[in-house]
Amino acid sequence: MDILQKLTVALAPTGTQLVAVTKRQSLEDIQRLYDKGQRVMAENRVQDLLERYEALPKDIEWHLIGTLQTNKVKYIVPFIKMIHSVDSLKLLQEIDRRAAQQGRVIDCLLQFHVAQEDTKQGLDEQEAINLLSSNDYAQMKNVRICGVMGMATFTEDQGAVRQEFKQLKGIFDRLKLLFFEKEAHFKEISMGMSGDYQIAVEEGSTMVRVGSLLFEKSL
Ligand SMILES: *Cc1c(COP(=O)(O)O)cnc(C)c1O
Repeated sequence: MDILQKLTVALAPTGTQLVAVTKRQSLEDIQRLYDKGQRVMAENRVQDLLERYEALPKDIEWHLIGTLQTNKVKYIVPFIKMIHSVDSLKLLQEIDRRAAQQGRVIDCLLQFHVAQEDTKQGLDEQEAINLLSSNDYAQMKNVRICGVMGMATFTEDQGAVRQEFKQLKGIFDRLKLLFFEKEAHFKEISMGMSGDYQIAVEEGSTMVRVGSLLFEKSL
C-alpha cells in the first residue's frame, strides 16, 4: 500500500477528511497525487496557490491554510473552496465583500492560537467570541464559518500536543453551543499534520492537513 492508501484507511473510521498540503512540491508530484484520486489540496501562500490553480486540473478543491493579507483576498475568492486561516474581523469582512462581488459564499474556519510558540498565529477564544457577537459579523452574507483550525507546538512531547488539540476541540464545542447550535455546517475541526495527525484524529479532528508525509519518496 502506498502512503495515500494508508492514510485513507487510517482516516476512514472517523470520516476525517484528508487535505493534501502541496507546498514546496513539484507540479509533477501533485499531478501524480491527483491521478491517484486525491482532489482536496491546500497551499499556505497565495502566490503558490494561484500558480497551482492555473496549472493543475480544475476539479481540484483548493484550500488556503496560511496567512492571508486583506489585499490578496481578491485573487483567491473566485475559486477558493475553504479558507482555514481567518484570524481577524477585518479579514473576514474583506472576504465577505469580495465574495459578494463574485456572487459566492466562502467557507471559512477561524484559526486559533493553541501552540506554545508565539510565531503561530490565530485568535484566542475571547477574540472569537467578540468577532461572532459583533454587528459587523451579523451583517455578513457571503461567508460561512464552518469550524476551527489550529496547529500544535512542534515538539516531541506528545502529551503537550494532545493537550493543545483538546484545547481546540473545547473551543469548537463552546462556540458551537454559543453561536452555531442549529447550524449543521459548523462541524469542522482542522487539526493534525504529518507528525501529529494520529493524535489529532483521536482528539476529534475532522480534517487533517498532511504535506511532507504524503509526498515522501518511497525508495
Ligand atoms: C505545511 C503545513 C501543513 C502540513 O505540514 P506537514 O508537516 O508537511 O504535514 C499543515 N498545516 C499548515 C498550516 C502548514 O503550513
